[in-house]
Amino acid sequence: MTEVQPTSRDYMIPEGCPVCAADLPVRVTSAGPNGVCKHCGWFGRPLVTVTHRGLRITYEGAQA
Ligand SMILES: [Zn+2]
Repeated sequence: MTEVQPTSRDYMIPEGCPVCAADLPVRVTSAGPNGVCKHCGWFGRPLVTVTHRGLRITYEGAQA
């Protein structure tokens, strides 16, 4: 029981930015996921949902 779990994780969603379609780095913390595009500056909360057709990425709180 000496292992320490990190409280945040970083992911990269290929072409995950809904604005410019650049790769979107996402940090997942205890507060939830947060994605910030380094290319255009867009930020939001990407939600990755598993469907029978594969992974589906939706965005919350940032309606264009
Ligand atoms: Zn972008």
